[in-house]
Amino acid sequence: MTTGSSTLPRARLVVDLAAVRHNVATLRAAAAPAELMVVVKADGYGHGMVEVARAAREAGAHWLGVAVLEEALALRAAGDEGPLLCWLGTPGEELAPAVAADVELTAYTPDDVAAVVAAAQEVGRTARLQLKIDTGLGRGGATEADWPALVAAALQARQDGHVEVTGIWSHLACSDEPEHPANDAQEAAFRRALAVAEEAGLRPRWRHLANSAAALTRPTSRFDLVRCGLAAYGLSPVPQLQSSAELGLVPAMTATARLALVKRVPPGSGVSYGHTYVTDRETTLGVVPVGYAEGVLRSASGVAPLLAAGRRTTVAGRVCMDQLVVDLGDAPAAAGDEVVLFGPGLTGEPTAEEWARACGTISYEIVTRLGGRFTREHVDSTQEDPAR
Ligand SMILES: *Cc1c(COP(=O)(O)O)cnc(C)c1O
Repeated sequence: MTTGSSTLPRARLVVDLAAVRHNVATLRAAAAPAELMVVVKADGYGHGMVEVARAAREAGAHWLGVAVLEEALALRAAGDEGPLLCWLGTPGEELAPAVAADVELTAYTPDDVAAVVAAAQEVGRTARLQLKIDTGLGRGGATEADWPALVAAALQARQDGHVEVTGIWSHLACSDEPEHPANDAQEAAFRRALAVAEEAGLRPRWRHLANSAAALTRPTSRFDLVRCGLAAYGLSPVPQLQSSAELGLVPAMTATARLALVKRVPPGSGVSYGHTYVTDRETTLGVVPVGYAEGVLRSASGVAPLLAAGRRTTVAGRVCMDQLVVDLGDAPAAAGDEVVLFGPGLTGEPTAEEWARACGTISYEIVTRLGGRFTREHVDSTQEDPAR
């Protein structure tokens, strides 16, 4: 193995918090007068939950959203104090710490309401509770048939002084296809559920339905609050219709790795497992020390783009557990040089969106999966960084 003098990590994810702030400000302006919740679940879609949360708050995100309790409590432990919603509980989970930390919980069933009431009694304070209606995603939330019973349970808990009901919300199934009829149907079902609650005497402050795609493409879905994940990281939630740049978003994550080895090989050389790639002439191969253990999808084999030695190339042959290979042609390259898997796309490098298309998936999966032996650092491109 050749080691250059550079002290750069072997493989790193660089997350630009200035890009996150820019995207948050852009989404806030787009959604206004609705408020913005930035969704930071799954370690901030792989970008670093605590750092992204801080940047989002700085840029004026009124709310943060997470899936599971540990995520909410980790944000509180890191000092976050603002409105914070959590929506994916598991029966038997201890809710008292969340109530004590002022985390807003979501109830899908009367049993969920009872669990929150028990936690409120244990802690000795009123819990903040939101109710979820399943308007057609067929995932979490009460069905329309079960909705009146959930509303009734929440009203009883409120009357008993155990909960304050702060929100009613739902989630869309087809928001990335703005013309899909399910969007109209779900929005209509949401309005019906709000009416049922209101007639029963429940009119919470926060009514919300839209994720990134709906927030950007469907103004009628914005209600009081939009919940944006992907767009806050600078990725387009409707890539078939509009690119990040067209939406005024800047991708925050750059993934790079340093070539572990560069070597000349003759024509007819098989490359990587299965020899699915064979050189057609004398050429230079570069070994890139990241693989599927780092979350580089194996479906990137032979198709995903990279920027290496100043030019676009493609993963040559199969992605292995720890490494992949690129064919550098006759471009000058040396071991230790950085290659870019993807980045904002502003200086010739591919984007996570291009990776998604090449791998037959969505950019959510590209960024969220990366980890393993990648290091991750946070930078602020609006500030001079002497280390770079
Ligand atoms: C993940 C998630 C979001 C964010 O979705 P994006 O498409 O990334 O904006 C919003 N709401 C809920 C309930 C989610 O689970």
